[in-house]
Amino acid sequence: MRDENCIFCKIANGEILSATVYEDEMFRVILDLGPATDGHALILPKEHFADVCRLDEAYGAGVLPLAAKIGQAMKRGLGCDGFNLVQNNGEAAGQTVHHFHMHIIPRYAGGPKGIAAWEPRTADSEKLAELAEKIRTNI
Ligand code: 5GP
Ligand code: ZN
Repeated sequence: MRDENCIFCKIANGEILSATVYEDEMFRVILDLGPATDGHALILPKEHFADVCRLDEAYGAGVLPLAAKIGQAMKRGLGCDGFNLVQNNGEAAGQTVHHFHMHIIPRYAGGPKGIAAWEPRTADSEKLAELAEKIRTNI
């Protein structure tokens, strides 16, 4: 299903042109208009899913192998030395376009590393056990 008001539905289905690096029946991979580094790409499903919680299983199964394929092509084609996979869910997590997408961000030796979105804190084992229980009992 597509959402008529969704820009990523339009881009994924070719109604709005974008720099496309890959396309198949399920996905289009485009370059991000506001790239973190040269070659920053987005994997877009051609169907509309708001976020990973809504993602159809077949798309879920396809997205990680595709990310690996594109990442390898970035290493060969762009000469990047690594890449980050980033996938935001919900405004609190930084999601701005509410159509599932996965970022593939090439990283170059000597450049900024990783996403640097958090300062690691300390956690004791009691706190970790308490948090684990809260998640485990809601699966
Ligand atoms: P989010 O923050 O939702 O995970 O990421 C949305 C990303 O989509 C941002 O990195 C933003 O630069 C990119 N973006 C938003 N609108 C467009 C667009 O119309 N075309 C392209 N190519 N990228 C877009
Ligand atoms: Zn959409």
